[in-house]
Amino acid sequence: MRKIIFVAMVLAFGAALAAVYSGSAVAQKKGAGANGNWIEGVSDGRNPVVDMTYAVSDKFPAWPGDERVFEAKANATVAKDGYFTRSFSMLEHYGTHLDAPAHFPPGKEYLDQIPVEHLFAPAVVIDVREEAGKDPDYRLRVMRVEKWEALHGRIPAGAVVLLRTGWSARWPDQARYRNMDAAGVMHFPGFSVEAARLLVERGAVGLGIDTLSIDYGSSKDFEVHRVTLPAGLYQLENLANLDQLPQAGAFLISAPIKLEGGSGGPVRVFAILPTK
Ligand SMILES: [Zn+2]
Repeated sequence: MRKIIFVAMVLAFGAALAAVYSGSAVAQKKGAGANGNWIEGVSDGRNPVVDMTYAVSDKFPAWPGDERVFEAKANATVAKDGYFTRSFSMLEHYGTHLDAPAHFPPGKEYLDQIPVEHLFAPAVVIDVREEAGKDPDYRLRVMRVEKWEALHGRIPAGAVVLLRTGWSARWPDQARYRNMDAAGVMHFPGFSVEAARLLVERGAVGLGIDTLSIDYGSSKDFEVHRVTLPAGLYQLENLANLDQLPQAGAFLISAPIKLEGGSGGPVRVFAILPTK
């Protein structure tokens, strides 16, 4: 009996090794191509990494009405204890963060339940800086998605689609980032519900933006949230350094805090750029 188990284990180990070996062969082939973005290139400098995350502090533009956005206090200090620790608390939706599908029911997955494969994704970058510069209420048109596809090919299933609005130039100036009018209505660009529906159809696993919300600032009903989160997509908000990504060819790794039952939470987002 033991012998049989041992033989089975050896066979399984051999199969796993073979899988790893052939996997890396495929990766090497891909890495040699025009869109090479395989992860080994990060450590030897062929593939630069862009950190798309703001370092967490209490200084960020927050959603109107949000209070006590971030607090940290020292529990142990080097002077008193010989070492340093802090405790902190913060909102789930503050700074560079990820919205989990459960943020808007009937979206189901909580932050800790998002399939890990979805957190590794080709980055599609749609640049609307010109449009958003002229109209702060701009919403991404379907036509602009189709224009991207005409240049770079169909949006691949499993992609994260990032909207580059140029709004990060206003960070961390809260008044300019929120861009609130006299009536208290915010004005910043976002996705349109029609474009969001098309991106769901294309099989995107997430959307991202360099503003406070995937929905444009004046939105009252968060239509894009209501279309994409129930479809199982996640959303990245307040992204940094989106201007450093090419429109196609970067690869995104999004690592949110694994908060049980979270509606969202702080996320570290890395973009691996194509091979130099
Ligand atoms: Zn959010």
